[in-house]
Amino acid sequence: MNIDLIAALRARLGDGQVSTADAVREQHSHGEGHHAPSMPGAVVFARSTDDVAQSVALCNAHRVPLAAFGAGTSLEGHVNPPEGGISLDLSRMTDVLSVNPKDMDCRVQAGITRQLLNHTLRDTGLFFPVDPGGEATIGGMCATRASGTAAVRYGTIRENVLGLTAVLADGRVMRTGGRVRKSSTGYDLTHLLIGSEGTLGVITEVQLRLHPIPESIAAAVVQFETLSEAVATAIDILQFGVPIGRLELLDDVQMDASIRYSLLSGLRALPTLFLEFVGGPESVREQIGVVEAIVEDRGGLGFDWQTDPNQRAALWRARHHAYWACLAYRPGYSAMTTDAIVPISALGELIVGVKADIAESGLTAPIVGHVGDGNFHTIILVPPTPDGLERAWALDRKIVRRALALGGSCSGEHGVGLGKREFLTDEHDPVALDVMRVLKRTLDPNGILNPGKMLPGESR
Ligand SMILES: Cc1cc2nc3c(=O)[nH]c(=O)nc-3n(C[C@H](O)[C@H](O)[C@H](O)COP(=O)(O)OP(=O)(O)OC[C@H]3O[C@@H](n4cnc5c(N)ncnc54)[C@H](O)[C@@H]3O)c2cc1C
Repeated sequence: MNIDLIAALRARLGDGQVSTADAVREQHSHGEGHHAPSMPGAVVFARSTDDVAQSVALCNAHRVPLAAFGAGTSLEGHVNPPEGGISLDLSRMTDVLSVNPKDMDCRVQAGITRQLLNHTLRDTGLFFPVDPGGEATIGGMCATRASGTAAVRYGTIRENVLGLTAVLADGRVMRTGGRVRKSSTGYDLTHLLIGSEGTLGVITEVQLRLHPIPESIAAAVVQFETLSEAVATAIDILQFGVPIGRLELLDDVQMDASIRYSLLSGLRALPTLFLEFVGGPESVREQIGVVEAIVEDRGGLGFDWQTDPNQRAALWRARHHAYWACLAYRPGYSAMTTDAIVPISALGELIVGVKADIAESGLTAPIVGHVGDGNFHTIILVPPTPDGLERAWALDRKIVRRALALGGSCSGEHGVGLGKREFLTDEHDPVALDVMRVLKRTLDPNGILNPGKMLPGESR
């Protein structure tokens, strides 16, 4: 590691914010995926935009790579630093800088988690709706263009960011966007950084849209004999224009795991939809009426809905614990999560094909996901055998290719990192990829920002 750089970082930020301890470096050598870890030479804990600006400027001067680190929950090797260098941890930047209830927006430091933000907002009548399963930071969510169960109603992080502050590769601080709901001026630099995975700049502050907590919320569960009926019902609900709050699919295997893990009573290990209805009481009743009729028409096995907050919370807790339920289902196995997405009309064909791929692989791989967006996860349980990882990768690749062949994307929400780079040439137009490379070289001419990620064949 570059001793001069570490000395300079310690001199600028103080000893307490720079660590070369093995345990700290190990913790920053990987995210939650299966990609080979690689140790950073040092970890810097930033507390402010100025800390980030000083760190990035010093790395640039020393030509040392730097990878931003939020909570490390990303799944495609995003935070692993293959070339070593500095891991810049923003998880201590957790301030809510302002809340504007009248305009329904707020400004936060990038290291705050959505859970902490919503806890802080609890008395305002407002909330922030983007809810990926991991306890992620807002900066990490922006960098991976994350979404969650509520995207079908409230959009992904992309639709909920009004502006941000970012540090560029040379250490300059750039403020983008503003507090207005729309603006027709300038290039959209805010959204250039959303999904850039720390390769174009380090986000330090974010201006977020907030939403009123709905007056009325109801949840429903409906089970089906077949997966095709469940998917067809989901598609009908969307095509009828029901403004559904959440629409999640769990296949028979995921239900088996979740029933055991979350002690869900009265449900069977069958393909199941979890639904949430939000709005005024009248609108919620109307939505429930339409969905109940669709369910009946599609052969759903009953339609059970409830407004009791505890029962609702238990249902959505079970959904959010789906990943942990899978790990508990096969003790000693690890989990590899795909997030292929296709146009809604191709969803049924994709899921049926993926079920056949899983059967052929001989692996256990529950399916759970945000079918309301055409996106779902296959949680491939990786056996602790010498060939386990190889078999899981083979299935993961098959699922991605199937989605691409149906006009989809290799990643609906997890992002590219190290893991999905090979698919970018299949998914994107060559001229578009060229423009991406030009942007990267223009904004980061020394290639210090999270090198080796996102663009295929790109390194320093
Ligand atoms: C159990 C589980 C469930 C999940 N469910 C979902 C889901 O439903 N939807 C979903 O979208 N994702 C999901 N994920 C993936 C993960 O939570 C998201 O990718 C999340 O957005 C990552 O945030 P993070 O703070 O952990 O970022 P990290 O993992 O720390 O970093 C991710 C990437 O962003 C960059 N980065 C981090 N902070 C910044 C910053 N401030 N500025 C610039 N770049 C930065 C990093 O360099 C890296 O490239 C899940 C993960 C797990 C483990």
